[in-house]
This record gives sequence, C-alpha cells and structure tokens, in this order.
Amino acid sequence: MNILITGGAGFVGSNLCNNLIQDQHHIFILDNLHSGRKENLSHCEHLKNFNFIEHDIRNPLTIEEDIDQIYHLACPASPKFYQSDPIYTTETCVLGSLNVLNFALQKNAKVLFTSTSEVYGDPEVHPQPESYKGSVNPTGIRACYDEGKRCAESLFYDFHRMHGLDIKVARLFNTYGPLMRSDDGRVVSNFICQSISEIPLTIYGDGTQTRSFCHIDDLVIGLKKLMNSGSDILYPVNLGNPDEFSLLELVKEIEKISSKKLEVEFQLLPMDDPKIRKPDIQLAKIKLGWEPSIKLSDGLIDTYEYFFNQLNR
Ligand code: UDP
Repeated sequence: MNILITGGAGFVGSNLCNNLIQDQHHIFILDNLHSGRKENLSHCEHLKNFNFIEHDIRNPLTIEEDIDQIYHLACPASPKFYQSDPIYTTETCVLGSLNVLNFALQKNAKVLFTSTSEVYGDPEVHPQPESYKGSVNPTGIRACYDEGKRCAESLFYDFHRMHGLDIKVARLFNTYGPLMRSDDGRVVSNFICQSISEIPLTIYGDGTQTRSFCHIDDLVIGLKKLMNSGSDILYPVNLGNPDEFSLLELVKEIEKISSKKLEVEFQLLPMDDPKIRKPDIQLAKIKLGWEPSIKLSDGLIDTYEYFFNQLNR
C-alpha cells in the first residue's frame, strides 16, 4: 500500500513510520519541519519504499503516485509549540485538514485524523468518554489547538457526509516515548531531561493535576487498528492509557527510573491547564480490541535511555 503520513517527522509520525515501513508499505512523509525533525527518519532515507516531501500543509498538496491511506498528524502538538504561534496552529489545524481532505477525495484514499483529548478542554466529566462534548475555553491560550482540532473534526465528518469520504478520527491522550523532542516542553520530556541534567523538576501549580500517559508503541498499534477498522467505526475513538497519575506521582516514577532523589521547583500553573484527564477506552477495547499493554514504570525506561543518549551526544 502507498501510505502518506502528514507530520511524519514528528514524535508520533516518525514512530508510526518506523512501524509501517517494516510492513513493506511505501511510506510518503510530508512535513515542513516546524516541530518535526528530519533526523528522526534519517535511517529511512536510503530505503526504496520511503519518500520525504518538505511541505507546509497550509498549502494544497500534490503527489503524483496513488495514495491508499493517509494518517493526518501535521500540527504542532505540545502546549509550548502550539502556543508559540497560535495563528499558525489554527491555520495548520483548519486549512491543513481542508487540504488533506480535498487531497484524500482526489486520491480516493482512506484518511485518519489524529484529534486530541484537548477537545474535552478542562473536563467536568471523568474519565472522558467520546460522547462527552467537552469544556473548552474558546478564547484562552489553548483555544488555537483545542478549537482548531474541534473544527478539523467537524470538517472530517462533513467530508464524510457530503462526499462519502472514508474517514477515521482518533482522539489521542498524553503520549510519551523515544523520538520526543527534549525541548518540546511537555511534562515527561521536561522531567526526564531535568533529572538527567540534575536540575530541579519544574512543577506547574501544586502537582495534584492528573494525566494518563500512553507509551508510543501502544499508541501506534491503536492507530493502525483504527485505520484498518471497518466502515461501521465512524465515531471518534479515544486512544490513551487509562492509568492516571498526578504530577507528584510522576515525579516518584521518574525517581525510581533515575535512582536518585529529585528536587522539585513549583511554578505558576498556566491558564486553562486541565486539572484532570483520563480516557474512557471502552470503545477502543470493544470495537478495535485495543488497550495499552505498557505500564508507565516500564515505558519510562526506554524513554529515559533515549533522552540520556540524546543529551549526552
Ligand atoms: N507541566 C509541569 N511541568 C513541566 C511541564 C508541564 O508541571 O515542566 C504540567 C502542565 O502544566 C500540565 C501537565 O504537566 O498540567 C501536562 O503538561 P503537558 O505539557 O505534558 O501536556 P498537556 O496534557 O497539558 O497538554
């Protein structure tokens, strides 16, 4: 199969590429390297079944070859990156999705959109099922991403309803693992890199807020299962690990991996930071036969090693 991954040089995209390329598919990676890194894919560059296309998804795309499947990931995804140029983020979500959808229509390709748990905002329902409509502040600093992704989801469903396009929508919860950027500002990468560099771990707020962390290897399996699921699975599907940790508990997990007592430094909580987050994954379990198998304490091991090698290069 010919498979296009938009945003394929990013953390999720490059892990997905590594997996799909082993299945002997021809992989087309499209990325403008805004937050993705070409070095994530340097080991693929010599392969016959690999093409890298540098392109900004805000502009219409053209590829001569037939494309069977599209994983549409392109978008800055960490709060630090998506808030650094919020207008760019909204344009990437909305114009980027429109361009991908028109391209999918032209190629008659099946297209999977990676939406986000951010569509639930600062949730009042816990854990969050797909049926929850969310609690997003439309004027806050996270709105560019949250509302951008919500608008993109609506475009996906409108293309399905108006043109019969074969679509899938995944809502990704916090994910971690090798090939994350050390400077992406997310909590797992920050805490591990701070621990390796022997500087205090920066906790925003009091550290009681919770997140549920999914290892990238589990997520990639979920994305592939959703992409290859039947046309009856039309609704959005949460993909995430339901094991919930407060940030103070995450510090303890990283202390175990690094085998040292870690100092912490409390800083201001950013605006609209969700207080709790945990996916309800009943749909993924029942309809896709998917659930994560990697516990945080295990998954942090290869992630720690990856950052250790990155920082000591
Ligand atoms: N956070 C933190 N210290 C950091 C980075 C993040 O305390 O160095 C907090 C952040 O405020 C949030 C949680 O960790 O409450 C998860 O943040 P992240 O940026 O990883 O992703 P989010 O789930 O907020 O999109």
